[in-house]
Amino acid sequence: MALTGLEIYKQLPKKNCGECGVPTCLAFAMALASGKAALDTCPYVTAAAKEALDSASAPPIKAIKFGKDSVLGDENVLFRHDKTFYHPTTLLIRVSDALSDADVEAKVQEINILEFDRVGLHYSIDGVAVVNESGDAARFEKVASMVAAGTDKSLLLLSSNPEALKAALVPLAARKPLVGEATAENYEAMVNLAKENSVPVILKADGLDALNDLVEKAQALGYKEFVLDPGSRKPVETLANLTHLRRLAIKKKFRPFGYPVVAYTSHPEPLDEILEASVYVAKYASAIVLNTSAKAHILPLMTLRQNLYTDPQKPIQVEPKLHSVGEVNENSPFYVTTNFSLTYYSVEGEVEATKIPSYILPIDTDGTSVLTAYAAGKFEPDKIAQAMEASGIADKVKHRNLIIPGYVAVISGKLGELTGWKVVVGPRESSGIISFAKSQLM
Ligand code: SF4
Repeated sequence: MALTGLEIYKQLPKKNCGECGVPTCLAFAMALASGKAALDTCPYVTAAAKEALDSASAPPIKAIKFGKDSVLGDENVLFRHDKTFYHPTTLLIRVSDALSDADVEAKVQEINILEFDRVGLHYSIDGVAVVNESGDAARFEKVASMVAAGTDKSLLLLSSNPEALKAALVPLAARKPLVGEATAENYEAMVNLAKENSVPVILKADGLDALNDLVEKAQALGYKEFVLDPGSRKPVETLANLTHLRRLAIKKKFRPFGYPVVAYTSHPEPLDEILEASVYVAKYASAIVLNTSAKAHILPLMTLRQNLYTDPQKPIQVEPKLHSVGEVNENSPFYVTTNFSLTYYSVEGEVEATKIPSYILPIDTDGTSVLTAYAAGKFEPDKIAQAMEASGIADKVKHRNLIIPGYVAVISGKLGELTGWKVVVGPRESSGIISFAKSQLM
Protein backbone atom coordinates (compact mmCIF):
# COMPACT_ATOMS: atom_id res chain seq x y z
CA MET A 1 0.00 0.00 0.00
CA ALA A 2 1.06 3.58 -0.53
CA LEU A 3 2.83 5.46 2.25
CA THR A 4 1.09 8.38 3.95
CA GLY A 5 2.54 11.88 3.95
CA LEU A 6 3.70 11.51 7.56
CA GLU A 7 5.40 8.18 6.86
CA ILE A 8 7.24 9.80 3.97
CA TYR A 9 8.11 12.84 6.10
CA LYS A 10 9.93 10.60 8.61
CA GLN A 11 12.36 9.58 5.86
CA LEU A 12 13.11 13.12 4.61
CA PRO A 13 16.19 15.18 5.73
CA LYS A 14 14.07 17.82 7.57
CA LYS A 15 16.32 20.68 6.49
CA ASN A 16 13.34 22.76 5.35
CA CYS A 17 15.62 24.42 2.81
CA GLY A 18 12.99 24.80 0.08
CA GLU A 19 15.25 23.60 -2.74
CA CYS A 20 12.58 21.10 -3.82
CA GLY A 21 10.25 23.97 -4.73
CA VAL A 22 8.04 23.84 -1.62
CA PRO A 23 8.94 25.60 1.65
CA THR A 24 9.15 22.64 4.02
CA CYS A 25 9.93 18.94 4.09
CA LEU A 26 6.40 18.28 5.37
CA ALA A 27 4.84 20.06 2.38
CA PHE A 28 7.15 18.07 0.09
CA ALA A 29 6.10 14.81 1.79
CA MET A 30 2.43 15.65 1.25
CA ALA A 31 3.08 16.48 -2.41
CA LEU A 32 4.97 13.21 -2.81
CA ALA A 33 2.15 11.22 -1.22
CA SER A 34 -0.39 12.69 -3.63
CA GLY A 35 1.82 12.04 -6.66
CA LYS A 36 2.38 15.76 -7.31
CA ALA A 37 6.17 15.73 -6.72
CA ALA A 38 9.13 13.56 -7.68
CA LEU A 39 11.52 12.29 -5.01
CA ASP A 40 14.65 13.27 -6.91
CA THR A 41 13.69 16.96 -6.60
CA CYS A 42 15.17 16.83 -3.09
CA PRO A 43 18.97 16.66 -3.42
CA TYR A 44 19.47 15.58 0.22
CA VAL A 45 17.53 12.29 0.36
CA THR A 46 19.82 9.48 1.54
CA ALA A 47 20.19 6.25 -0.41
CA ALA A 48 18.46 4.33 2.40
CA ALA A 49 15.52 6.74 2.42
CA LYS A 50 15.36 6.61 -1.35
CA GLU A 51 15.01 2.85 -1.29
CA ALA A 52 12.35 3.04 1.41
CA LEU A 53 10.42 5.70 -0.49
CA ASP A 54 10.77 4.21 -3.92
CA SER A 55 7.25 2.86 -4.06
CA ALA A 56 5.79 6.14 -2.79
CA SER A 57 7.55 8.14 -5.48
CA ALA A 58 7.02 5.71 -8.38
CA PRO A 59 4.23 6.53 -10.86
CA PRO A 60 1.01 4.65 -10.05
CA ILE A 61 1.23 2.78 -13.35
CA LYS A 62 4.72 1.81 -14.52
CA ALA A 63 5.82 2.86 -18.00
CA ILE A 64 6.56 -0.18 -20.15
CA LYS A 65 8.43 0.39 -23.40
CA PHE A 66 8.67 -2.02 -26.29
CA GLY A 67 9.20 -2.18 -30.02
CA LYS A 68 9.78 0.84 -32.19
CA ASP A 69 8.58 3.57 -29.85
CA SER A 70 5.60 2.11 -27.99
CA VAL A 71 5.10 3.23 -24.41
CA LEU A 72 2.33 1.70 -22.29
CA GLY A 73 1.05 2.96 -18.94
CA ASP A 74 2.60 5.85 -16.99
CA GLU A 75 -0.84 7.35 -16.42
CA ASN A 76 -1.68 9.32 -13.29
CA VAL A 77 -5.40 10.04 -13.44
CA LEU A 78 -8.71 8.27 -13.87
CA PHE A 79 -10.32 10.97 -15.94
CA ARG A 80 -8.85 12.98 -18.77
CA HIS A 81 -10.23 16.25 -17.38
CA ASP A 82 -8.37 15.69 -14.07
CA LYS A 83 -5.09 16.39 -15.87
CA THR A 84 -4.39 14.55 -19.12
CA PHE A 85 -3.71 11.06 -20.46
CA TYR A 86 -0.13 10.72 -21.63
CA HIS A 87 0.30 7.57 -23.68
CA PRO A 88 -2.37 6.85 -26.30
CA THR A 89 -3.63 3.27 -26.35
CA THR A 90 -1.27 1.23 -28.50
CA LEU A 91 -3.21 -0.45 -31.33
CA LEU A 92 -1.95 -3.78 -32.63
CA ILE A 93 -3.42 -5.95 -35.36
CA ARG A 94 -3.43 -9.70 -35.01
CA VAL A 95 -1.65 -11.93 -37.56
CA SER A 96 -2.20 -15.64 -36.97
CA ASP A 97 0.56 -18.13 -37.75
CA ALA A 98 -2.23 -20.43 -39.03
CA LEU A 99 -2.50 -18.22 -42.14
CA SER A 100 -0.70 -19.17 -45.33
CA ASP A 101 2.54 -17.35 -46.19
CA ALA A 102 0.75 -15.36 -48.88
CA ASP A 103 -2.00 -14.32 -46.48
CA VAL A 104 0.56 -13.27 -43.85
CA GLU A 105 2.34 -11.08 -46.40
CA ALA A 106 -0.93 -9.57 -47.60
CA LYS A 107 -2.03 -8.81 -44.03
CA VAL A 108 1.28 -7.13 -43.20
CA GLN A 109 1.00 -5.00 -46.35
CA GLU A 110 -2.53 -4.02 -45.36
CA ILE A 111 -1.29 -3.00 -41.90
CA ASN A 112 1.64 -1.02 -43.31
CA ILE A 113 -0.60 1.26 -45.35
CA LEU A 114 -2.90 2.14 -42.45
CA GLU A 115 -1.87 5.79 -42.26
CA PHE A 116 -4.07 8.81 -41.66
CA ASP A 117 -3.77 12.59 -41.53
CA ARG A 118 -6.25 14.31 -39.27
CA VAL A 119 -6.36 17.92 -38.03
CA GLY A 120 -2.74 18.36 -39.07
CA LEU A 121 -1.42 15.25 -37.30
CA HIS A 122 -0.21 12.01 -38.85
CA TYR A 123 -1.24 8.60 -37.47
CA SER A 124 -0.46 4.99 -38.29
CA ILE A 125 -1.19 1.67 -36.64
CA ASP A 126 1.33 0.97 -33.85
CA GLY A 127 2.10 -2.70 -34.08
CA VAL A 128 1.46 -6.27 -35.12
CA ALA A 129 0.56 -9.13 -32.78
CA VAL A 130 1.85 -12.47 -34.09
CA VAL A 131 -0.30 -15.21 -32.55
CA ASN A 132 0.76 -18.85 -32.26
CA GLU A 133 -2.59 -20.40 -33.22
CA SER A 134 -0.96 -23.24 -35.19
CA GLY A 135 0.52 -24.71 -32.00
CA ASP A 136 3.67 -25.33 -34.03
CA ALA A 137 6.87 -23.70 -32.72
CA ALA A 138 8.66 -23.75 -36.10
CA ARG A 139 5.67 -22.16 -37.85
CA PHE A 140 5.41 -19.49 -35.16
CA GLU A 141 9.11 -18.68 -35.54
CA LYS A 142 8.77 -18.47 -39.34
CA VAL A 143 5.70 -16.22 -39.30
CA ALA A 144 7.23 -13.96 -36.62
CA SER A 145 10.34 -13.51 -38.78
CA MET A 146 8.20 -12.87 -41.90
CA VAL A 147 6.21 -10.20 -40.08
CA ALA A 148 9.39 -8.63 -38.67
CA ALA A 149 10.91 -8.52 -42.16
CA GLY A 150 7.75 -6.98 -43.61
CA THR A 151 7.27 -4.12 -41.17
CA ASP A 152 9.21 -1.94 -38.75
CA LYS A 153 6.20 -1.60 -36.45
CA SER A 154 6.28 -2.76 -32.82
CA LEU A 155 5.81 -6.50 -32.35
CA LEU A 156 3.84 -8.58 -29.86
CA LEU A 157 4.70 -12.29 -29.88
CA LEU A 158 1.90 -14.35 -28.33
CA SER A 159 2.17 -18.01 -27.40
CA SER A 160 1.42 -19.99 -24.27
CA ASN A 161 4.24 -22.38 -25.14
CA PRO A 162 7.61 -21.18 -23.75
CA GLU A 163 9.54 -23.22 -26.34
CA ALA A 164 7.62 -21.70 -29.26
CA LEU A 165 8.04 -18.24 -27.79
CA LYS A 166 11.76 -18.77 -27.33
CA ALA A 167 12.14 -19.88 -30.97
CA ALA A 168 10.40 -16.72 -32.22
CA LEU A 169 11.82 -14.29 -29.69
CA VAL A 170 15.56 -14.99 -29.68
CA PRO A 171 16.18 -14.00 -33.34
CA LEU A 172 14.01 -10.88 -32.86
CA ALA A 173 15.20 -9.81 -29.40
CA ALA A 174 16.85 -6.69 -30.86
CA ARG A 175 13.37 -5.48 -31.93
CA LYS A 176 12.37 -5.51 -28.22
CA PRO A 177 8.97 -7.16 -28.77
CA LEU A 178 6.34 -7.43 -26.07
CA VAL A 179 5.85 -11.14 -25.39
CA GLY A 180 3.25 -13.34 -23.76
CA GLU A 181 1.56 -14.90 -22.25
CA ALA A 182 2.79 -15.97 -18.82
CA THR A 183 0.16 -17.85 -16.82
CA ALA A 184 0.10 -19.63 -13.45
CA GLU A 185 1.26 -22.78 -15.28
CA ASN A 186 4.21 -21.41 -17.26
CA TYR A 187 5.19 -18.12 -15.60
CA GLU A 188 8.65 -19.17 -14.44
CA ALA A 189 9.80 -20.16 -17.92
CA MET A 190 8.06 -17.18 -19.55
CA VAL A 191 9.26 -14.51 -17.11
CA ASN A 192 12.83 -15.87 -17.13
CA LEU A 193 12.81 -15.90 -20.95
CA ALA A 194 11.63 -12.28 -20.99
CA LYS A 195 14.22 -11.35 -18.37
CA GLU A 196 17.08 -13.00 -20.30
CA ASN A 197 16.06 -11.07 -23.43
CA SER A 198 15.20 -7.80 -21.62
CA VAL A 199 11.69 -7.60 -23.06
CA PRO A 200 8.37 -6.98 -21.28
CA VAL A 201 6.01 -9.90 -20.74
CA ILE A 202 2.22 -10.19 -20.44
CA LEU A 203 0.95 -11.85 -17.25
CA LYS A 204 -2.45 -13.46 -17.83
CA ALA A 205 -4.80 -14.82 -15.17
CA ASP A 206 -8.55 -15.30 -14.91
CA GLY A 207 -9.84 -12.54 -12.67
CA LEU A 208 -8.19 -9.99 -10.44
CA ASP A 209 -7.45 -12.24 -7.44
CA ALA A 210 -5.61 -14.75 -9.61
CA LEU A 211 -3.83 -11.91 -11.39
CA ASN A 212 -2.68 -10.46 -8.06
CA ASP A 213 -1.20 -13.86 -7.10
CA LEU A 214 0.52 -14.19 -10.46
CA VAL A 215 2.04 -10.70 -10.30
CA GLU A 216 3.47 -11.38 -6.84
CA LYS A 217 4.97 -14.69 -7.93
CA ALA A 218 6.40 -13.14 -11.10
CA GLN A 219 7.88 -10.20 -9.18
CA ALA A 220 9.56 -12.69 -6.84
CA LEU A 221 11.62 -13.81 -9.85
CA GLY A 222 13.32 -10.40 -9.77
CA TYR A 223 11.63 -8.86 -12.82
CA LYS A 224 9.11 -6.03 -13.13
CA GLU A 225 8.59 -5.42 -16.86
CA PHE A 226 4.99 -6.58 -16.96
CA VAL A 227 1.77 -5.92 -18.84
CA LEU A 228 -1.40 -7.34 -17.27
CA ASP A 229 -4.18 -9.36 -18.90
CA PRO A 230 -7.14 -10.00 -16.55
CA GLY A 231 -8.31 -12.90 -18.70
CA SER A 232 -11.92 -12.40 -19.72
CA ARG A 233 -12.73 -11.93 -23.40
CA LYS A 234 -16.34 -10.86 -22.78
CA PRO A 235 -16.69 -7.08 -23.29
CA VAL A 236 -18.68 -6.37 -20.11
CA GLU A 237 -16.28 -8.35 -17.91
CA THR A 238 -13.28 -6.85 -19.66
CA LEU A 239 -14.60 -3.34 -19.08
CA ALA A 240 -15.20 -4.11 -15.40
CA ASN A 241 -11.70 -5.57 -15.03
CA LEU A 242 -10.02 -2.66 -16.81
CA THR A 243 -11.91 -0.18 -14.63
CA HIS A 244 -11.11 -2.00 -11.36
CA LEU A 245 -7.43 -2.29 -12.31
CA ARG A 246 -7.14 1.42 -13.10
CA ARG A 247 -9.00 2.48 -9.94
CA LEU A 248 -6.91 0.22 -7.72
CA ALA A 249 -3.67 1.43 -9.31
CA ILE A 250 -4.49 5.15 -9.23
CA LYS A 251 -6.77 5.61 -6.22
CA LYS A 252 -5.39 2.93 -3.88
CA LYS A 253 -1.86 2.84 -5.26
CA PHE A 254 -2.13 -0.94 -5.15
CA ARG A 255 1.30 -1.85 -6.45
CA PRO A 256 0.63 -5.31 -7.91
CA PHE A 257 -1.75 -3.64 -10.37
CA GLY A 258 0.58 -0.73 -11.11
CA TYR A 259 1.28 -2.03 -14.62
CA PRO A 260 -0.26 -1.32 -18.03
CA VAL A 261 -3.10 -3.54 -19.23
CA VAL A 262 -3.75 -5.22 -22.58
CA ALA A 263 -7.23 -5.98 -23.98
CA TYR A 264 -8.32 -8.20 -26.86
CA THR A 265 -11.39 -7.62 -29.00
CA SER A 266 -13.78 -10.54 -29.37
CA HIS A 267 -16.63 -9.45 -31.68
CA PRO A 268 -16.40 -11.20 -35.07
CA GLU A 269 -18.20 -8.37 -36.92
CA PRO A 270 -15.75 -5.51 -37.63
CA LEU A 271 -18.12 -2.67 -36.76
CA ASP A 272 -19.04 -4.32 -33.45
CA GLU A 273 -15.36 -4.97 -32.89
CA ILE A 274 -14.54 -1.29 -33.34
CA LEU A 275 -17.33 -0.34 -30.91
CA GLU A 276 -15.85 -2.80 -28.41
CA ALA A 277 -12.35 -1.40 -28.95
CA SER A 278 -13.68 2.15 -28.50
CA VAL A 279 -14.86 1.21 -25.01
CA TYR A 280 -11.41 -0.19 -24.19
CA VAL A 281 -9.68 2.95 -25.52
CA ALA A 282 -11.86 5.07 -23.24
CA LYS A 283 -11.53 2.77 -20.21
CA TYR A 284 -8.60 1.92 -19.77
CA ALA A 285 -6.61 -0.37 -22.03
CA SER A 286 -2.95 0.52 -22.53
CA ALA A 287 -2.85 -1.71 -25.62
CA ILE A 288 -5.56 -3.39 -27.72
CA VAL A 289 -5.14 -6.34 -30.06
CA LEU A 290 -7.58 -6.08 -32.98
CA ASN A 291 -8.62 -8.40 -35.80
CA THR A 292 -9.77 -5.91 -38.41
CA SER A 293 -7.25 -4.08 -40.53
CA ALA A 294 -9.71 -2.28 -42.81
CA LYS A 295 -9.02 1.44 -43.10
CA ALA A 296 -12.71 2.33 -42.75
CA HIS A 297 -12.82 0.52 -39.40
CA ILE A 298 -9.55 1.77 -37.98
CA LEU A 299 -10.01 5.49 -38.78
CA PRO A 300 -12.94 6.10 -36.36
CA LEU A 301 -11.05 4.28 -33.61
CA MET A 302 -7.99 6.41 -34.16
CA THR A 303 -10.15 9.54 -34.21
CA LEU A 304 -11.63 8.61 -30.83
CA ARG A 305 -8.17 7.89 -29.46
CA GLN A 306 -6.85 11.21 -30.71
CA ASN A 307 -9.73 13.07 -29.08
CA LEU A 308 -9.27 11.34 -25.72
CA TYR A 309 -5.51 11.66 -25.65
CA THR A 310 -5.40 15.36 -26.50
CA ASP A 311 -4.39 17.43 -23.50
CA PRO A 312 -7.63 19.24 -22.59
CA GLN A 313 -5.57 22.19 -21.40
CA LYS A 314 -3.71 22.43 -24.73
CA PRO A 315 -6.11 22.08 -27.66
CA ILE A 316 -4.53 21.04 -30.95
CA GLN A 317 -3.59 24.18 -32.81
CA VAL A 318 -2.40 25.19 -36.25
CA GLU A 319 0.33 27.74 -36.79
CA PRO A 320 -1.26 31.21 -36.82
CA LYS A 321 0.18 32.27 -40.18
CA LEU A 322 -1.26 32.92 -43.63
CA HIS A 323 -2.22 29.62 -45.29
CA SER A 324 -2.85 29.15 -49.03
CA VAL A 325 -5.46 26.74 -50.35
CA GLY A 326 -4.79 25.91 -54.01
CA GLU A 327 -2.91 28.07 -56.54
CA VAL A 328 -3.61 31.45 -54.99
CA ASN A 329 -3.37 34.73 -56.91
CA GLU A 330 -4.04 38.42 -56.38
CA ASN A 331 -7.80 37.86 -56.72
CA SER A 332 -8.03 35.03 -54.21
CA PRO A 333 -10.66 35.40 -51.45
CA PHE A 334 -9.31 35.97 -47.96
CA TYR A 335 -10.89 34.21 -44.94
CA VAL A 336 -10.17 34.74 -41.26
CA THR A 337 -10.82 32.09 -38.62
CA THR A 338 -9.23 30.80 -35.38
CA ASN A 339 -6.23 28.51 -34.90
CA PHE A 340 -8.19 25.69 -33.19
CA SER A 341 -7.28 22.74 -35.40
CA LEU A 342 -10.80 21.35 -35.70
CA THR A 343 -12.13 24.78 -36.69
CA TYR A 344 -9.27 25.52 -39.07
CA TYR A 345 -9.36 22.19 -40.88
CA SER A 346 -13.17 22.30 -41.16
CA VAL A 347 -12.85 25.71 -42.83
CA GLU A 348 -9.92 24.61 -44.98
CA GLY A 349 -11.77 21.50 -46.20
CA GLU A 350 -14.82 23.52 -47.22
CA VAL A 351 -12.75 26.27 -48.85
CA GLU A 352 -10.90 23.61 -50.84
CA ALA A 353 -14.24 22.17 -51.92
CA THR A 354 -15.24 25.56 -53.41
CA LYS A 355 -12.37 25.05 -55.90
CA ILE A 356 -11.55 28.76 -55.57
CA PRO A 357 -7.89 29.18 -54.54
CA SER A 358 -8.05 31.18 -51.31
CA TYR A 359 -6.07 32.54 -48.38
CA ILE A 360 -6.98 31.63 -44.80
CA LEU A 361 -5.53 33.44 -41.80
CA PRO A 362 -6.04 31.56 -38.48
CA ILE A 363 -5.79 34.03 -35.61
CA ASP A 364 -3.91 32.85 -32.51
CA THR A 365 -6.78 32.27 -30.06
CA ASP A 366 -4.88 29.68 -27.98
CA GLY A 367 -6.60 26.92 -29.92
CA THR A 368 -10.18 27.92 -29.13
CA SER A 369 -13.14 27.90 -31.52
CA VAL A 370 -14.70 31.10 -32.88
CA LEU A 371 -17.40 31.71 -30.29
CA THR A 372 -15.23 30.63 -27.35
CA ALA A 373 -12.44 32.87 -28.56
CA TYR A 374 -14.78 35.81 -29.03
CA ALA A 375 -16.30 35.32 -25.56
CA ALA A 376 -12.78 35.24 -24.07
CA GLY A 377 -11.69 38.41 -25.89
CA LYS A 378 -9.25 36.51 -28.11
CA PHE A 379 -10.94 37.19 -31.45
CA GLU A 380 -11.17 40.97 -31.29
CA PRO A 381 -10.85 43.46 -34.17
CA ASP A 382 -7.52 44.92 -33.02
CA LYS A 383 -5.97 41.45 -32.73
CA ILE A 384 -7.23 40.45 -36.18
CA ALA A 385 -5.97 43.73 -37.65
CA GLN A 386 -2.49 43.13 -36.17
CA ALA A 387 -2.42 39.56 -37.46
CA MET A 388 -3.42 40.73 -40.94
CA GLU A 389 -0.63 43.28 -40.98
CA ALA A 390 1.93 40.74 -39.79
CA SER A 391 0.75 38.22 -42.44
CA GLY A 392 1.43 40.57 -45.36
CA ILE A 393 -1.96 39.77 -46.94
CA ALA A 394 -2.25 43.34 -48.26
CA ASP A 395 0.72 42.70 -50.58
CA LYS A 396 -0.67 39.40 -51.84
CA VAL A 397 -4.15 40.42 -53.02
CA LYS A 398 -5.29 43.50 -54.91
CA HIS A 399 -8.83 43.49 -53.48
CA ARG A 400 -9.63 44.58 -49.92
CA ASN A 401 -12.35 42.08 -48.95
CA LEU A 402 -12.07 40.15 -45.72
CA ILE A 403 -14.43 37.25 -44.90
CA ILE A 404 -15.17 36.66 -41.20
CA PRO A 405 -17.21 33.88 -39.53
CA GLY A 406 -20.92 34.71 -39.29
CA TYR A 407 -20.91 34.13 -35.53
CA VAL A 408 -18.83 37.28 -35.02
CA ALA A 409 -20.72 39.59 -37.41
CA VAL A 410 -20.82 42.03 -34.51
CA ILE A 411 -17.12 42.89 -34.95
CA SER A 412 -17.44 43.80 -38.61
CA GLY A 413 -17.85 47.57 -38.10
CA LYS A 414 -14.84 48.03 -35.82
CA LEU A 415 -12.73 45.63 -37.90
CA GLY A 416 -13.54 47.57 -41.06
CA GLU A 417 -12.54 50.84 -39.38
CA LEU A 418 -9.24 49.44 -38.10
CA THR A 419 -8.17 47.72 -41.32
CA GLY A 420 -9.77 49.86 -43.99
CA TRP A 421 -10.97 46.59 -45.60
CA LYS A 422 -14.52 45.72 -46.55
CA VAL A 423 -15.64 43.12 -44.03
CA VAL A 424 -17.85 40.42 -45.55
CA VAL A 425 -19.83 38.37 -43.05
CA GLY A 426 -19.47 34.72 -44.02
CA PRO A 427 -21.56 31.74 -42.91
CA ARG A 428 -21.81 30.81 -39.23
CA GLU A 429 -20.73 27.23 -39.82
CA SER A 430 -17.98 26.07 -42.15
CA SER A 431 -20.55 23.80 -43.83
CA GLY A 432 -22.08 26.96 -45.33
CA ILE A 433 -18.89 28.05 -47.10
CA ILE A 434 -19.62 26.32 -50.43
CA SER A 435 -23.03 27.93 -50.88
CA PHE A 436 -21.60 31.24 -49.61
CA ALA A 437 -18.82 31.06 -52.20
CA LYS A 438 -21.28 30.21 -54.98
CA SER A 439 -23.50 33.18 -54.18
CA GLN A 440 -20.83 35.74 -53.24
CA LEU A 441 -17.56 34.83 -54.93
CA MET A 442 -18.39 33.29 -58.32
FE1 SF4 B 1 13.25 19.20 2.70
FE2 SF4 B 1 14.66 18.23 0.70
FE3 SF4 B 1 12.72 19.97 0.22
FE4 SF4 B 1 14.95 20.77 1.42
S1 SF4 B 1 14.79 20.00 -0.65
S2 SF4 B 1 12.81 21.27 2.00
S3 SF4 B 1 15.44 18.97 2.60
S4 SF4 B 1 12.48 17.94 1.06
